Amino acid sequence: MEADGKNSMKFFYECSECRKHFKISPDLMVCPECSLKQQENKPLRGVLEVSFDGEVSKDFDIFDLLPVEKEYFPPIPVGNTPLWTPHNLRKKTGFDKLYIKDDSLNPTGSLKDRASYLVAAFALREKIPDVVVASTGNAASSMAGVGAAAGLNIKIFIPATAPQAKRIQALQYGAKVIEVDGTYDKAYELSLEYTKTHGGLSRNTAYNPLTIEGKKTVALEIYKQLGAAQLGAVPDWIFVSAGDGVIIGGLYKGLQDLLHLGLIKRMPVICAVQAEGSNAICHAFRNGDFIESYSSNTVADSISVDVPRNGYYAVKYLHKYDGRCVEVTDREILAAQKELASTTGLFAEPAASASLAGFLKEKNSIPHNDTVVILVTGNGLKDIDAAKKGLRK
Ligand SMILES: *Cc1c(COP(=O)(O)O)cnc(C)c1O
Repeated sequence: MEADGKNSMKFFYECSECRKHFKISPDLMVCPECSLKQQENKPLRGVLEVSFDGEVSKDFDIFDLLPVEKEYFPPIPVGNTPLWTPHNLRKKTGFDKLYIKDDSLNPTGSLKDRASYLVAAFALREKIPDVVVASTGNAASSMAGVGAAAGLNIKIFIPATAPQAKRIQALQYGAKVIEVDGTYDKAYELSLEYTKTHGGLSRNTAYNPLTIEGKKTVALEIYKQLGAAQLGAVPDWIFVSAGDGVIIGGLYKGLQDLLHLGLIKRMPVICAVQAEGSNAICHAFRNGDFIESYSSNTVADSISVDVPRNGYYAVKYLHKYDGRCVEVTDREILAAQKELASTTGLFAEPAASASLAGFLKEKNSIPHNDTVVILVTGNGLKDIDAAKKGLRK
C-alpha cells in the first residue's frame, strides 16, 4: 500500500434517511428498513451513502476518498477531465470567471464513466463477474466500455427508443443488450427482476450506492483544478443537468466530504437544470413531493426520466445547501447546444447542453464576477438525430 493514509480510512454505508450504519457489501443496495416504505412510481427510499472515518491531507489523492482500493480500478483513464476557459463565451456573457468542466472527454463519452469505474472496481474486488444495468443509453455504453477494460460480463436493459449510437457503442464493447419495449422506467424494473433471479451486481443508478459515490469525483476534481486548496475557495455556482438526480447527489456528496474534512468553508450554489418536459426534481423541489403518474418528454434523452431514482436524496441536498432548480425548454436546450459548439468547439449532447441553457436563463440574477462552472456531461456524437433538429430554423 502507498503511504498515503489510505490504511487509516474506514468506509461504511450510512442510510440517507435513518442514518443507520452498515458494512459495505455487494448484497446490500438500499437500507433494509427505510426501503420498506417504498411506494410505486416514486423515487427510491433508503438510498445508502458512503461515509468514512479518517482524515486526508490537503493534497490528497482522489482514490483516498473512495471506498475501493486503487489497485482494483480497471485500466482505463476515467476522470481527470479538463476544467477550461471558454473565452468566447466569457466575452459574450460578460462572466470573466466562467469555466467548463468537460466530462464528455471520459473514455465512453459521458460522466457516467465515473460511476461505472467505481462499480467495476468493486465487482473486481468482490470477485463478481457479472454486472447488470438499466439505462437510457449512457449508463449502458459506459458500463459496457469500463466493463470491457475490467474483463467483466455486462448485461444491459435499454429502451428500444434509445439513440442508436449509444446502443451500438455498448454492443461494440461486447455487452449483452436487451432491448425493452417501453420506457427507461420499465427497463429499470426488468433489470432488477433479472438480478434478483440470476444474481450479478446491479449498477442501477442510485440503487447501487457506489453510483452516487463514483460521481462525486467530479466535485473533487473541480476543487483541485480551481486551485481551491490554495485559495480556500470553491466556485460560487455549478450548473448541472439532472435526470435521476445522481450527478446532483454525487456533486453534493463530494463537496460535503470536503466540508467535513475542513478543506472548504462553504458550499457552492448548485443549480439543477431540467428539461421542462422532464422536471420531476424541480417540481418536487418547489412543491414538496413527487407526482405519481408522470410522463416525461424531451429531446434530451439522457435526462428524460419519469421517476427520478435519486429524487428524494437530490431534493434534500438542494434544500439543505440552498441550491436552485431551473427548467429549460427543448428549444433552449438545442440553442445552447449550438451556442456551445459554435463558440467553444465543444459538441455536447442535448442533456449535456442543458446545463449551459440553464446558466443562460439564470445569468441575469448572478453577479458577473462570480465563479461559475458549467458541467458538460456527454458527447454530441451520441445523438446525431437530436443535434440535427437544432440546425433547422
Ligand atoms: C445521465 C446523464 C445526465 C443526468 O444524470 P442524472 O444522474 O440522471 O441526473 C446528464 N447528462 C448526461 C449526458 C447523462 O448521461
